[in-house]
Amino acid sequence: MYQALYRKYRPKTFKDVIGQDYIVKILSNQVKKGEIAHAYLFSGSRGTGKTSVARIFAKAINCEDNCDGSPCYKCNTCINLEQNNNLDILEIDAASNNRVDEIREIREKVKFLPTNGKYKVYIVDEVHMLTDSAFNALLKTLEEPPAHVVFILGTTEPHKIPQTILSRCIKFDFNLISQFELKKHLINILNAENINFEDSALDLIVSSAQGSVRDMLSITDAVISLGENIVKYDDALRILGATDNEQLFKIADAINSKNIEDAFKIVDELINRGINITVLAKDLTVHFRNLLIAKITNSNENILKLPVDNIKKLKDQSLKFSDEDLMLLMKNFSEIESELKYALSPRTLIEVAIVKAIMKEDIEKKN
Ligand SMILES: [Zn+2]
Repeated sequence: MYQALYRKYRPKTFKDVIGQDYIVKILSNQVKKGEIAHAYLFSGSRGTGKTSVARIFAKAINCEDNCDGSPCYKCNTCINLEQNNNLDILEIDAASNNRVDEIREIREKVKFLPTNGKYKVYIVDEVHMLTDSAFNALLKTLEEPPAHVVFILGTTEPHKIPQTILSRCIKFDFNLISQFELKKHLINILNAENINFEDSALDLIVSSAQGSVRDMLSITDAVISLGENIVKYDDALRILGATDNEQLFKIADAINSKNIEDAFKIVDELINRGINITVLAKDLTVHFRNLLIAKITNSNENILKLPVDNIKKLKDQSLKFSDEDLMLLMKNFSEIESELKYALSPRTLIEVAIVKAIMKEDIEKKN
């Protein structure tokens, strides 16, 4: 039976974790030194490894003979903790168990000693979803935690967590994974699976995954299910139903260098591949918005929510445009989004928008 790549290649040791070197180093050192805190907060976007790292850490601190800070998977404790029904590593999804009763229940249970190793570990996912009273109940446990209890709280929205909780946790911010690391990881997996690929397909998948290993692997799974043991660019484009990021950069370059022919050629290519023109207009609007943000803000990583190498590319391209140009371009393409829904010839509409964008200065001069 086919097993989803995301599940099959979940990291089992710290060494297998992608793109969180500094976090992994600190945590494995804590394991080696046996200096374990009572509460950790893992924050970061989805698919950056929070839950995987939490699971590895939970096993590692219990392992009888840790392997460079990671679980050995050979000792009795490790073997017992691998069972789904073990009572020592408990995963709670706060999105569906956010009520005070459920947290009170944890408070009652934390008193009992672990059955296997030294620690009982509670991994609470999406902890920001807890209600106020549930947070208060959790706080009481965090204020006086029994020596054998460790909490690992995970969240995609750390700003929603009360300061009283935050101040009791050791905090780790999980980075979005760079495109370089994502691609390297994907190539390793495809090689291990004996699956062929087109390099351009991987670039497209990686840039669409926007820093998330999980998204990258689920897109890849979907693409594999279309083809015959090969990851093809055209299939990836079909699955994503979106414009290739690379093509957006090319269209923007063509507009910048006033090359109508090039711009039309790319649009033609995309249409032949079955791209939806409304999606293309929306993607172009977002692209020029991203360029504008990359150009005018310093803390653009927080606003853009894209991996660093993506942002660098945006920054480089943004320098070719003035702020006013970018604003006009954004407006230009967002205006046709609604018109496109009713247009008899959407292709003409987007071509006119491109010509308008290129001839903007000339038109302005004439008026
Ligand atoms: Zn072990």
